Formats: sequence, C-alpha cells, structure tokens
Amino acid sequence: MSPTDCVAALDIGGTTIKAALVDRQGTVMARLRRPTPSRDDGPDQVLAAALATIDEFAGVPGSRRVRAVGLVVTGIVDERRGVAVHSQNVGWRDVPVRSLVEQATGLPVGFGHDVRAGTLAEWRLGAGRGLEDLVFVPIGTGVSAGIVVRGRLITGDGYAGEIGHVDVGHGEPCVCGGRGCVEALASAAAIARRYAAVSGRPVAGAREVAERLVAGDPIARRIWDEATDALALALAWTSVVLAPQAILLGGGLARSGSLLFEPLALALGGHLGVVRRPRLVPAALGDDAGFLGAALLAWEAVQPSSRKS
Ligand SMILES: [Zn+2]
Repeated sequence: MSPTDCVAALDIGGTTIKAALVDRQGTVMARLRRPTPSRDDGPDQVLAAALATIDEFAGVPGSRRVRAVGLVVTGIVDERRGVAVHSQNVGWRDVPVRSLVEQATGLPVGFGHDVRAGTLAEWRLGAGRGLEDLVFVPIGTGVSAGIVVRGRLITGDGYAGEIGHVDVGHGEPCVCGGRGCVEALASAAAIARRYAAVSGRPVAGAREVAERLVAGDPIARRIWDEATDALALALAWTSVVLAPQAILLGGGLARSGSLLFEPLALALGGHLGVVRRPRLVPAALGDDAGFLGAALLAWEAVQPSSRKS
C-alpha cells in the first residue's frame, strides 16, 4: 500500500462538521471545519454538506489517495445496518447514511456513533491503548459512555452506554423527558445552567463555574458537588457491572483536571468497596476523538478486521 493512502473522516455535530484526512497509522494529514447546515434546512442539506467536505479533500493538491470515507454522528446509530436511527441535532431519522454515501462517492464507507467511534479512537490511538476493558465517558452537552469489554466495543444496536439517562433520584427534569437523570446534573451544560438558575448570574460554561468554585463561591461548590456525586454514582454502577481497568474521562469537563478527578475518585472509592476500582484517566485525543474514530471505521471498511460489534 502506498504511504500516501488516506481516508476522509467526518465528525458531524450539531453546529460543526470536523473533518480530516487520516492515514493508516492515525496521523492527521489535513483538517477542515465547516458549519453544519441548520436542521431546519432539512436532513438532505446536512448530507450534502458532508459530501461537499469530502469533495474538498479530493481537491487537496498532492499525491494523497482517498481510499474510503468514515462518518460519525450523535444520537441513536445502528452501526450494523449503517443507519442513523435518530440523530436529533442534524435532523436525521432512519437515514441509511452508509449506503447513501457509498452511492455518492463510490468509496467504501464506515458509519458510526460519535462516542463509540471516539472510544475506538481512544482505545487504539489514545489513553486506552493496550487495555482490554475500558469505558470512555465524554462529558459535554451530555453524558454517555463508550464501552469495551474483553477487546470488543459494545454497541447494543445503538443503545449501549446511555449512562447519562439513569435516574439517580434528584428529581430534576432532563432533556430526554425523564427525571432525575445523571446528565441533568452532571453534564457541562447542566452545571452552567444550574449555576445560572440558582445564583441568578449567567455563566459562559462549566469552566466559569469551576473558576468560581476555586474563588470560594458557595453556590458553585454546591452545584459542582452535586454534579460529581451524580457522576460518581453512574460510574460506580458502570464499574460494578463491567469492572473496567480504566475509565477515560473526556469532553469539556475533563479539562477541569483535579477539580473533577479528585472528588470523583474519592466518591467512587466510597461506592465501590471490594469491587475493583478503575483508574480514572484523562482521555488523550480531545475534540479529535470523533473523527479519528470515523477514520478507523473507514479503514475497517477498506479492509474489515475481525472486530465484532
Ligand atoms: Zn435523561
């Protein structure tokens, strides 16, 4: 295989399409960021924007050859069928993304879920290298988990790992329509929203709540503690059921470092007793995890491995 072979990998988010050309070793050879069309413009516009981004890569000068395409989105994704069952933030419902992109590009296509693909990337290229049992939990607008058990990524037909929507008993409403969900207290978005609601002072994000916590703000302390307690409970259940060697924490909230990791490790230790305590590890790939995972799916489409999912 020529060393200049690469794949076009796209992480299609609600506001931004993050795209890259990635070689066989996971090295990023080129990057693009494009705004995601509004879902009010219709689901076809998002697909058209994705295809246009792939075309832009085809026009990059040089001797790179695009061998395949990888795409990931959030929501309920059925990797086996290559279908976006329900990706709310791009307006896709039962869209057969894999076959549509195959038809449009004439290339092999890998299609998956952003968090599970990010898990694949952290496992193969990032903080989870060499592990057989791990959980990747990105904490941003939501909270969910990518799960690897005995060297297999667990997909559950698109439903595995939704640890953000377990009722931990606090009673507050959640975007999913339920109450008491982990995500309603512990996502970065929830921390910012709840701080603003209680204090009457709007904040730009969870990072600002963390700054106020350090400055001694008691409301920030309360909101932060409630978030880490809810998260610790979700991670405790996850650990009891799966006994991962490590839990990789990513997303915006993981950038708060010891402010997050220390209380979480303490609370988790308190919950687990005799059960194996997983190492809590910062994820390594940041915002690149999604498209790097898409790249790995694309390479698998070129040359399917024995990985079952
Ligand atoms: Zn929920």
